[in-house]
Amino acid sequence: MTPADPKLLANIRIVLTRTSHPGNIGAAARAMKTMGLGQLVLVDPAIFPNSQADAMASGAADLLAQARVCASLAEALADTTLALGVSARRRDIVAEVLTPPEASIRLLTEAQAGPVALVFGNETSGLSNEELSLCQGLVTIAANPEYSSLNLAAAVQVLSYEVRQTWLDHASWPQPEMDAATGEEIEKFYAHLETALAELEFLNPGSPGKLMLKLRRLFARTRLAKEEVNILRGILTAAQEAKQGTNGARNHGAE
Ligand code: SAH
Repeated sequence: MTPADPKLLANIRIVLTRTSHPGNIGAAARAMKTMGLGQLVLVDPAIFPNSQADAMASGAADLLAQARVCASLAEALADTTLALGVSARRRDIVAEVLTPPEASIRLLTEAQAGPVALVFGNETSGLSNEELSLCQGLVTIAANPEYSSLNLAAAVQVLSYEVRQTWLDHASWPQPEMDAATGEEIEKFYAHLETALAELEFLNPGSPGKLMLKLRRLFARTRLAKEEVNILRGILTAAQEAKQGTNGARNHGAE
């Protein structure tokens, strides 16, 4: 049997958002390295770099030294084609809830084409709805329902272990189904959608309510291909131009 391809693990990124305790960052790095994962991304960590992080990382200090620090989750996910939020609680923002083995298969399949991510939340508050809205699916560790909240680094260990076992079990993978849009392309589409809906007076920028979150959930359910994002943005531009045309005609008529 051909051995599993190390490039796939190299494309799987572990993203820790707003981590409070630097010790958890170090312990997460150790959990990752023991399972062959190396890409650690920290979004707005409270304290980093830090000696407690170094101590808990033990022999995985190289992962901390190479860790990328980002100001926002959108920045951390800009080049990814799949981001899965890891959360104990089921939220109404992300439609699809996966088990760790299911998530591992999805991540490794997509990792053939480019970077993918597992996103972990803050120790106290978990992942916010806004953070989850940047993810295309949710992974839950089926823990004791009476006490289901694992330590952050323990949760990183469980997911890293599952990814590795799935990786070891497969010498080859089917190609990803489509040329998926990246996080950045999807965020640009949402920004365009919001502007266009405001121009069309469908969305009131003063009180947008939950419309954008609901639309994000709708599109997250389908997963968008690059070409589909281009078509949708083309439709938005056409609608904006048509609206400008009517306004223009109205203004002209009033002159
Ligand atoms: N009180 C928080 C728990 C945070 S634990 C909450 O209710 O969301 C820190 C992080 O570890 C979580 O954001 C999540 O990424 C991960 N985690 C802990 N337990 C988990 C579980 N049972 N399933 C999936 N992720 C879990």
